[in-house]
Amino acid sequence: MNAILNKIYDVIIIGSGNAALCAGISALETNQNVLIIEKADEKEWGGNSRYTAGAMRFAYDSNEDLMNLLKNPTEERIANTDFGSYTKEKFKADLLHFNEGEPLAELQEFLVENSLDTIQWLASHNIKFDPIYSRQSFIKDGKYIFWGGLTLEAEGEGDGLVSDERKEFLSLGGALIYNCEALEIIQTNNQISGIKCLLDGNETVLNCKTVVLGCGGFESNKELREKYLGPDWGKAKVRGTRHNMGKGIEMAQKLGAVLSGNFSGCHAVPMDRFMPDYGNLNLPHIERKHYRKISYLFGIMLNQEGNRFVDEGLDFRNYTYAQFGKAVLEQPNSIAWQFFDKKNFDILYSEYKTNDASFYEADTIEALLEQIEDIDQQSALKTIKSYNASVDKSTAFDPTIKDGKSTKGLVLNKTNWATTIDQAPFRAYPVTAGITFTYGGLKVNKKAEVIDTNGNVIPGLYACGEMVGGLFFYGYPGGSGLTSGSLFGRYAGKSAAKFCTTL
Ligand SMILES: Cc1cc2nc3c(=O)[nH]c(=O)nc-3n(C[C@H](O)[C@H](O)[C@H](O)COP(=O)(O)OP(=O)(O)OC[C@H]3O[C@@H](n4cnc5c(N)ncnc54)[C@H](O)[C@@H]3O)c2cc1C
Repeated sequence: MNAILNKIYDVIIIGSGNAALCAGISALETNQNVLIIEKADEKEWGGNSRYTAGAMRFAYDSNEDLMNLLKNPTEERIANTDFGSYTKEKFKADLLHFNEGEPLAELQEFLVENSLDTIQWLASHNIKFDPIYSRQSFIKDGKYIFWGGLTLEAEGEGDGLVSDERKEFLSLGGALIYNCEALEIIQTNNQISGIKCLLDGNETVLNCKTVVLGCGGFESNKELREKYLGPDWGKAKVRGTRHNMGKGIEMAQKLGAVLSGNFSGCHAVPMDRFMPDYGNLNLPHIERKHYRKISYLFGIMLNQEGNRFVDEGLDFRNYTYAQFGKAVLEQPNSIAWQFFDKKNFDILYSEYKTNDASFYEADTIEALLEQIEDIDQQSALKTIKSYNASVDKSTAFDPTIKDGKSTKGLVLNKTNWATTIDQAPFRAYPVTAGITFTYGGLKVNKKAEVIDTNGNVIPGLYACGEMVGGLFFYGYPGGSGLTSGSLFGRYAGKSAAKFCTTL
């Protein structure tokens, strides 16, 4: 430890999630004097990145673009798979969809243009990928067909991704310490000279020439959620780490950094109402996702007053789940129930079937509602009956496409996948909102340099991952978070290492 305390690092990176580790690997491509500091202990390292499915969105033109990214390109199913294409234009259109009329921001363009290159760079550093057969493909005429533009996930999902990145970082010669919380960035004569931190509980100064902030947004901080997102957000569950308290944003602001992006926006999804307040890394990885409840498109959602409040079948879940968390939060007491009948049990995501999933079950809708004390049972029964009566029975249900099987004549219709809820047994899953990450952050340029309130670069300071503002505004196409973390992490590490050569 003394060796670390006495050394002057060229680059110190704060955080050990995907963005920070990519910054570390990238810096080590040209500079051997790199340290990562992580606030959590060795059990909880890896931030939100470790909770992810490792799914990464990037533009590609054909099967060929994917082959050198795959862990097992010779796997039997590959030859029988049509990955289709996900063009840059489509990726841009998907981002635009969530901009509420605003044009693509410069950083969004940058993300799309460099997305494939970023994944290829990761693959060149021994991070390999698997096709997401279970969630993003269906079989048609004996062939696997991919949909939705989200095609690959890191081998071993989020856990595998950050573990492989950490392995690469350490094997390239980087140093990493845990239990080290950054408190303040120190400047001497307008030049970064160190970081004040709590190392194993003791206040310490680590010396360095540049700092890369990769320490997440403010989603774990109840007070900041209430301040920026609104008072109700204090009640939200946190889907991932408890360590992303907005400290990086605060430290940068003290050096004059300007905020950027939508500070009242965040990614949030319907979650099991009875999950713990934070995500749980002690569960096996597949179980960690079980709190998520995003198969609402195959049923309906009712609030405490017994009313529907969203078009559950508006689009594929990739395009609605990040907004529907907020919709649940806005309901009375921030709770709701998802109703399904037997017909659709098999196509619900696996997290609806794990042992800990909370749900009510009965053989009649009346008996089901009787079990739910805090819903208006009469109103809920009326809503379910009128929903059933308005379902268009002439159109076939097809979960692999937007099937147009809708309701007719309701104040709030369901646009696709509207099947009746009339086959016993019936289930109701209680849900609330779980926040994934926040959209507001720091302003950076394409080199990941942090910009100050006068529009100038703050010398030696870089940011990446959730800390970057101005990338996502009112929603985001799933899988873009890890890709942007890797992209800006890579550029932050490269820029920091280059800056050191100018000193
Ligand atoms: C349940 C879940 C599933 C998701 N699934 C996906 C997915 O499949 N695909 C996708 O693209 N995105 C997904 N996301 C979003 C994704 O997690 C984020 O976009 C991405 O992981 C953010 O990476 P990051 O490196 O910026 O932050 P993080 O991975 O959260 O890392 C930040 C790190 O900084 C540390 N830290 C914080 N403060 C300090 C401090 N003061 N000093 C030192 N260290 C500090 C934290 O402990 C943490 O380790 C998911 C998120 C969640 C919660």
